Amino acid sequence: MPEQYKKRVAIFGSTGSVGRQALEVISANPDRFSVEILTAQSNDELLVKQANEFSPDIVIIGDERKYPKVKEALANKPIKVFAGEQSLQDVAAMDNYDIMLAAIVGFAGLMPTLRAIEKGKAIALANKETLVVAGDIIMRKAVEHRAPVIPVDSEHSAIFQCLVGETRNKIEKIVLTASGGPFLGKKPNFLVNVKRDHALQHPNWSMGAKISIDSATLMNKGLEMIEAKWLFNLQPDQVQVIIHPQSIIHSMIQFEDGSIKAQMGLPDMKLPIQYALAFPHRIPSTMPRYNFKKPDKLTFEDADTKTFRNLTLATDALYKGGNVPCVLNAANEIAVYAFLKNRIGFLDMTDLIERTMQHVPFIQQPSLEDYFDSDGEARNFAASLIKL
Ligand code: NAD
Ligand code: MG
Repeated sequence: MPEQYKKRVAIFGSTGSVGRQALEVISANPDRFSVEILTAQSNDELLVKQANEFSPDIVIIGDERKYPKVKEALANKPIKVFAGEQSLQDVAAMDNYDIMLAAIVGFAGLMPTLRAIEKGKAIALANKETLVVAGDIIMRKAVEHRAPVIPVDSEHSAIFQCLVGETRNKIEKIVLTASGGPFLGKKPNFLVNVKRDHALQHPNWSMGAKISIDSATLMNKGLEMIEAKWLFNLQPDQVQVIIHPQSIIHSMIQFEDGSIKAQMGLPDMKLPIQYALAFPHRIPSTMPRYNFKKPDKLTFEDADTKTFRNLTLATDALYKGGNVPCVLNAANEIAVYAFLKNRIGFLDMTDLIERTMQHVPFIQQPSLEDYFDSDGEARNFAASLIKL
């Protein structure tokens, strides 16, 4: 494809699991995509390697102490190097790209994505926390600035794909599938002793540390319920979760006539990443195909919300709305990083989130500033609960 027709991609969070897989997709389709922006928080070596391979216009290293190293490593290349949090926002607002892959993890992804939306950019959204925290503002701005928000999260990509051709048809409900994570079927007496390395082992997906823990606690599915509410403009009672351990059906929609559409495939994030980058087209891929002759049964069961109480807390946040999902998210980020550092146990994460949700005052219709305040307050309170 001639250079001027290539989609110019900005990958925010290019050194992460989603970012790296996106670069694999782009490598396989060099005639369709060019890489214009790459960003990383601290992995300067991988960032430099990616920059050498993909020759972007700009790279950003979040950790400012690493700026001289990155700058020097790329000194003989026509690549601009920036550092720090503010440059993420400034560069997100630039004209040199068409689509942002929002693949930063956590609250940190919110502002760059918002800046891109305000410029009317297409967003391939992996960073679900952005919608959990400020879904109302994000979706309102996306409409205002005509910025398409295309989900990358596999469940939401599935729903999005099932919605093609259905714009006039009402959704009765959506069914988000969940693998159940590494501790499916386990009870609290087992979970109390779980350590980080075990919790990081997901049966079906290889992902970054935070989302792997979220999958083990089922918080990931809770965050995804809130993400789905905003993406597809649903009422809380239209969002259902079902455990499907094989991760072949990525999610489903039930329409008003009772008909159900599902999207299926092997669990490989490159598929939803590629779909979002290439949208509205489907482009060929050599990824392995699902084999119907494999004697793998597709099974479904209810989530054990008594054991995995994070899902109950997230459902509560989904129904309450306002700043509650933002508080849930902030407390969860603190809890997950404390667990990853072996500072708290697996079940302590839920207690910490619950107590933080009880502590931070409710705001019905928060402004962006309110979300920042609630996030900060929740983080401080959650951190204060962790014994040193
Ligand atoms: P990851 O931890 O592997 O990568 C995170 C990326 O964000 C890295 O490039 C890192 O440098 C950058 N980053 C981290 N903290 C930052 C900060 N404070 N400021 C700027 N950049 C920062 O995470 P991941 O697994 O790739 O997930 C990324 C996002 O995509 C998450 O929101 C996750 O929930 C979502 N997601 C991931 C998957 C998956 O398969 N990994 C699937 C669905 C959704
Ligand atoms: Mg998902």
